[in-house]
Amino acid sequence: MDKDYQAIVVGAGPAGLAAGLAFAHLGLRAAVVGPVSDPNDGRTAALFEGSIELLRRIGAWDNLKDHSEPLKAIRLIDATGGLLRAPEVTFWAHEIGLDAFGYNVPTGGLTVALESVAAGRLSRLQSAGVERIDIEATSARVVTREGVVLTAPLIAGADGRNSLARQAAHIETQRWAYPQAAVVATFSHSRDHQGISTELHRRCGPLTVVPMPGRASSLVWVDTPEEAARLAALSDDAFNSALKAHVGGLLGTMRDFSPRRVFPLSGQTATVLGRNRVGLIGESGHIIPPIGAQGLNLSLRDGATLAELAADAAAAGKDPGAGDVLAAYEAQRRRDVSARVWTIDLMNRSLLSEYLPVHLARGAGIVALKAIGPLRHLVMREGISPSFATPRLMHP
Ligand SMILES: Cc1cc2nc3c(=O)[nH]c(=O)nc-3n(C[C@H](O)[C@H](O)[C@H](O)COP(=O)(O)OP(=O)(O)OC[C@H]3O[C@@H](n4cnc5c(N)ncnc54)[C@H](O)[C@@H]3O)c2cc1C
Repeated sequence: MDKDYQAIVVGAGPAGLAAGLAFAHLGLRAAVVGPVSDPNDGRTAALFEGSIELLRRIGAWDNLKDHSEPLKAIRLIDATGGLLRAPEVTFWAHEIGLDAFGYNVPTGGLTVALESVAAGRLSRLQSAGVERIDIEATSARVVTREGVVLTAPLIAGADGRNSLARQAAHIETQRWAYPQAAVVATFSHSRDHQGISTELHRRCGPLTVVPMPGRASSLVWVDTPEEAARLAALSDDAFNSALKAHVGGLLGTMRDFSPRRVFPLSGQTATVLGRNRVGLIGESGHIIPPIGAQGLNLSLRDGATLAELAADAAAAGKDPGAGDVLAAYEAQRRRDVSARVWTIDLMNRSLLSEYLPVHLARGAGIVALKAIGPLRHLVMREGISPSFATPRLMHP
C-alpha cells in the first residue's frame, strides 16, 4: 500500500467513506483509515436529494436503491395535547417539482455499499483505529494502532464525536445535553405508508415513523431518558401497545419489531471546522439530535465540500491542506452547520418548553407553513438542501 497520500480520512463511518470516495472521484490520492462499521446497525437515515446524487456520483447508489424507500411526503402532527392544537400539515415533494424528497436508506446497508466501492477506488486501511496524528509544517502523519504510518497534507477528521483528529488540530467544542433519549426500531405494519414520513410532535420530543420498502417503517421515538429505557425494555407485545396508542391509526396492525436501541440526545459544535491541516466532517464537527433527518445529510455535504476545495487547490498546483483551503472550508460550511444545529435545537426546545407563548409561536409557525404556499416551498427546498451551501457533487 502506498503510504503517501493527498488526503487521509480518519474514520470509516458513512460520512468518512463517502468523503474518501468524493476525494477519489475528484482525482485525489486518498486513504480511509478506521474500523469497519456495524453492517447490522438497525437504523435508517432519511437522505435528501443532494445526498442521493452524491451517492450516485461516487458509485454507491446502485447497490442501495432496492433497499431504500422514496420519501414522497413529510407529515407533521401536533400531539402536544395543548389547548390550541396546530393543524396537521403535509409537505409533498411534488409541490416543489420532485418525485421524492429523497430516500430512507438502511444505515448498515449504506456502509456496506460504500465499503464495496471504496475497495476498488481508494486505499482502504482497515485498522482498530488511529492512535496518533502529528501535524507538521507541510503535512500530517497518521499512526495506526497497528503501527502503520501514513502521511498527507490534508486530514479529514470523520472520527465521530470524540474525534482524535479534532484534538490533534487543537479545535475546541461547545457541547450540551438534552433531557431526552431516542428509542430506535424497525417494524412491519398492515397499512400502506404511501411514502409518507410522519412526525408526531409531543411534549417530550417528536415520535417519527419513516417509510421503508414494503409495508415497513423505521421508528425514532424521542422521550425522557427514563421513559426511553422503559420502552426499550418492554416485551414486543407491550411495546406494540405503547406505539399503537400513537400511530396505530396510521399504520394498522404492527409486528416484526427489530431489537430496540436507545441513543441519548446531545448537541455539539466545533469552534472551527478546519485548521492545522485538519477538516472536520460529520459528528467530529457537529452533533444534532435525530430530529428532522439532518445529521448525515449535513455530514455528506461536509465531505463533498472539503473534497471539492482540496481538489481545486491540487488542480491549481497548490497545497490541498493549506490554511486558506481550510479557511474556505470553514467559511463555506459554517452557515449550513449553524443553521441546522440551532434550528433543530429551537424546534426541540420549543416542544420541551413550559411557556405557553413558545407553544403559541410554534403553532403560529405551522399555521403559516400550511397557509402560505411560497413560504412552505421555500422551507421545503432549504430543508432538503441549502441553496447557499450545496457542493457541486450534489447538483443533479
Ligand atoms: C437514532 C438516529 C437516527 C438518525 N437518523 C438520521 C436521518 O434520518 N438522517 C440523517 O441525515 N441523519 C440521521 N442521523 C444522524 C447520523 O446517523 C449521524 O450524523 C451519522 O451517523 C454521523 O456519522 P459520522 O460518520 O460523523 O459518525 P460515526 O457514525 O460515529 O462514525 C465515526 C467513525 O469513526 C471511527 N473512529 C472513531 N475514532 C477513531 C479513530 N481514532 N481512528 C479511526 N477511526 C475512528 C468510528 O469507528 C466510526 O466508524 C441519525 C442519528 C441517530 C442517532
